[in-house]
Amino acid sequence: MCKADRGAKRKATYMQVGSAARRASGKMDETLLERLKGRVTLAGGGHDEIEVEAPFTGEILGSVPWGTADDVREAVRRARAAQRLWAQTSFEERARIFMRFHDLVLERQDEVLDTLQLESGKARGHAFEEVLDVAIVARYYARTAKGHLRPRRRQGAFPLLTSTREYHHPKGVAGFIVPWNYPLTLAVTDAIPALMAGNAAVVKPDAQTPFSALWAAAILEEAGLPRDLFGIVTGRGAELGAPLIETVDFLMFTGSTATGRTVAAQAAKRLIDYSMELGGKNAMLVLEDADLEKAAEGAVRACFSNVGQLCISIERLFVHDSLFDRFAERFAEKTRALRLGGTLDYSAQMGSLVSRKQLDTVERHVQDAVEKGAAVLTGGRPRPDLGPYFYEPTILTGTTAEMTLFAEETFGPVVSLQRFSSVDEAVEKANDSPYGLNFSVWTGDEARGKKLATRLEAGTVNVNEAYAAAWGSTDAPMGGFKDSGVGRRHGAHGIQKYTESQTVAVQRLLPAAPPPGMGAERYARIATAALKVLSRLPGLK
Ligand code: NAD
Repeated sequence: MCKADRGAKRKATYMQVGSAARRASGKMDETLLERLKGRVTLAGGGHDEIEVEAPFTGEILGSVPWGTADDVREAVRRARAAQRLWAQTSFEERARIFMRFHDLVLERQDEVLDTLQLESGKARGHAFEEVLDVAIVARYYARTAKGHLRPRRRQGAFPLLTSTREYHHPKGVAGFIVPWNYPLTLAVTDAIPALMAGNAAVVKPDAQTPFSALWAAAILEEAGLPRDLFGIVTGRGAELGAPLIETVDFLMFTGSTATGRTVAAQAAKRLIDYSMELGGKNAMLVLEDADLEKAAEGAVRACFSNVGQLCISIERLFVHDSLFDRFAERFAEKTRALRLGGTLDYSAQMGSLVSRKQLDTVERHVQDAVEKGAAVLTGGRPRPDLGPYFYEPTILTGTTAEMTLFAEETFGPVVSLQRFSSVDEAVEKANDSPYGLNFSVWTGDEARGKKLATRLEAGTVNVNEAYAAAWGSTDAPMGGFKDSGVGRRHGAHGIQKYTESQTVAVQRLLPAAPPPGMGAERYARIATAALKVLSRLPGLK
């Protein structure tokens, strides 16, 4: 079959999915599925399989091997062997591979957009955000890794006598535990800086969404990355987490705060370093001078992108009294106008929740809030007519501290709309949370927005945008205050954390101790006098 025919055949399958037969969305391209499954690292044969569900329909999309502790150990063993050679390659060589990867991801995006939608149930626009993010991060670290990691001259212990340099060495093998909500982005964008720094990566995707990570592995190999440098083991987190943490040299974990605490304790036992991106209960503040139309539109993006299954999405929305009623009306109108659906094209603006478990949590939180007196401004219902886990975007008012969703993360399309009458009150309410991941401020006065942002206890704050401005600023750190995380991704920290820094200091002429023949007391007197002089030299740190 020629290439064009193959394309037409594939399209036909997907058009069927897109138009009528959601049933067919459980049928991902069989050849692609088999190809991806072949990318799982296994220690031997004889595995049970884990079935992967297509949330649009509840049908089985395919299956992957049910990985074991032995598979993890095998993946880490192979990764470690491959890393030894990889660490010898130049930054330029690594950058060429990641720029090829960047191009391939953009060229082949339809393939992964389908895969992402089918395994996670997200709308195509939100799947595209993942493609965009992967390309941006690949380009960023391909271009900047060398600069972030180059040896740097540091001020020596003794001026002129000590020559000091800082080096960065790869840690070895980094392990990645990844959730289901952004299965491509979170499997790849944290691994890219690790790989660019000369490490190998072993990834454990969530069992609900393994295929996008496997697709990325195949494309990385096509781009020229040695196969074993990016190993993937599929299976259950509770079974594979411990053997991974027992064998890797660094752990990058993205997921819930509860699991984060468990894996942090395991990493601490081995004294390996880790970085964690965890949950949030993010707040958005709409000040009295905000552009109402833009803020209402931004709120829709902030609250309902990826069906609210986004660690940086907004679940608490504080609006100034003076525009509360008008804002609530416009926000509700725009929310009602969102098109829900499970098609493999850009027609739907919001997709399905990922699973029965997520739907249950959302229903439980909304029901509890309503029983305790909250009012539903719009939404508040599942939509089984669209698919088993669809739920309407929901705005609640009158929420109080007794309600579960007031402080707990829902991780769904539900926001509580609250009032404030002074900025101090808004700041206090927004900060009154154990979490501090991503906040958003809307104001007509940029300078005021920036000043206010620094009073908010969150790792990223977007002024006049929901989340994409800060997240997409790949040169700046991203992560959480308080229970929302440890460490940062992106920017210099996002790559330096995958290295051991080493200080090499060369001492010249005189020892870093009393010179021969000088008594300790005299040395102390001279050193004290020297320190006094040095403290007056302007250039010295
Ligand atoms: P989760 O903690 O249950 O699962 C996350 C990952 O951990 C999965 O791969 C899972 O298999 C694995 N896992 C589960 N139990 C484990 C164990 N005992 N040992 C090792 N690994 C284990 O989280 P979830 O509910 O699937 O994901 C949603 C959560 O992730 C939300 O709280 C969300 O806010 C958070 N999240 C945070 C970010 C961020 O950047 N801060 C990004 C995405 C998601």
